[in-house]
Amino acid sequence: MSEYVTLNNGLKMPLVGLGCWKIPNDVCAQQVYDAIKIGYRLFDGAEDYGNEKEVGEGIRKAIADGVVKREDLFVVSKLWNSYHHPDHVKLALKRTLSDMGLEYLDLYYMHFPIAFKFVPFEEKYPPGFYTGAEDEKNGHISEADVPLIDTWRAMESCVDEGLTKSIGISNFNGGLVQDLLRQCRIKPAALQIEHHPYLTQENLVEYCQGKGIQIVAYSSFGPQSYLEMGSDLAKNTPNLFHHDTINQIANNHRVSPSEVLLRWATQRGVAIIPKSSKKERLETNLKIDSKLTLTHKELEAISKLNKNIRMNDPWDWLDGKFPIFA
Ligand code: NAD
Repeated sequence: MSEYVTLNNGLKMPLVGLGCWKIPNDVCAQQVYDAIKIGYRLFDGAEDYGNEKEVGEGIRKAIADGVVKREDLFVVSKLWNSYHHPDHVKLALKRTLSDMGLEYLDLYYMHFPIAFKFVPFEEKYPPGFYTGAEDEKNGHISEADVPLIDTWRAMESCVDEGLTKSIGISNFNGGLVQDLLRQCRIKPAALQIEHHPYLTQENLVEYCQGKGIQIVAYSSFGPQSYLEMGSDLAKNTPNLFHHDTINQIANNHRVSPSEVLLRWATQRGVAIIPKSSKKERLETNLKIDSKLTLTHKELEAISKLNKNIRMNDPWDWLDGKFPIFA
C-alpha cells in the first residue's frame, strides 16, 4: 500500500497510482483487478484512453469479490477536449460513469486546456483529436469557442451534484493556472503534467504546491512510454534507464533506475501514476516510498538533467499544427 497525500478539499489521494493509458482492452479488466489485489488504490484513466468500460469492470469485480470497498479506491478520469462546452461536460462525465458502472469519480481532470468542436457519442467515442473523417484527412483541428472558465464552472457543478469529489487540470502552464485561480469557485485539487528528469518544470511545481494544488506526474520515465508509439523524439533522446547519472545513483542504493526515477518525483512531493502490466514492476512501483530515500545531492543531480524535452506535445504528431505548450 502506498502513502497518501491530502488534497485541498480534504480528500486523501494515494501518492502512487496505476496509469491506464494504452492498457489493451482485452486485458484491461484483469490488469486492474490484479493491481487492486497487489494494493493499488488509484486508477488514472481518461475518456480518451478508450478502456473505461474495462477499467470499471476490473474495479467492480474487485468490489464484488470483497477485495476492496468503493470508498477505498481513488478513481480518476479526464474530460476530453470535444466536451468542453458547458452543455457537454456533465454529459461526458455521466458517459464515463455509465461506462465504468460507478456512481462517482474521486477526481475529474480537464485533460488539455484546449476546446474542440463537439462530436456526438454515436458518431465516434472517444473522438480523439479529429472531429470527423474529413478533418482527419485534411489534418484539420476543429476548435470550439469555449473559454476554459466556462468549462471549469460546469465541472464545479459536477462536484455540487456529487458526480465527482474533486476536479483538476492537466497540461496547464503557470499562466493558465493563475487565470483559473483568479476566477474559480472550487480550486483545482491537482495538476497532472508530464514530469521527468528531462522536463522538471520546477517553477510550475513550486507555484502549484504553494497554492495547495497537488502535482501528479505522468510519463515519469521520460521517453520510455513514447518509444512504443514510434516517436522519433523518444528514439533520439538518451534513455533514462541507461543514463550514467541515474545508473550511478541506482548502484549507490542497489535499486533499479526505474526506482530512482519514481522516488525522485515522490521525494519532491509529486504523486506518480506509472503504467505497467508486469506484476513485479507493479509491486516495485507501488512500494517505492518505503524502500528508497535519495540524498539531497542525488535529487539535485537528477534535477540537473533537465533539458525541457516534452514528449507529449501534440504539435509534434498532429498534421494540423496546433500549439498547446508554446
Ligand atoms: P510511464 O512513464 O508510466 O511509462 C510506461 C512505460 O514504462 C511502459 O512501457 C512500462 O512497461 C514501463 N515501465 C513501467 N514500470 C517500469 C519499471 N518499474 N521498470 C521498467 N519499465 C517500467 O508512461 P505513461 O503511460 O506515459 O504515463 C503514466 C500514466 O500517466 C498513463 O498511463 C496515463 O494514465 C497518464 N498520462 C496522462 C497524460 C495527460 O495528458 N494527462 C499523458 C500521458 C500519460
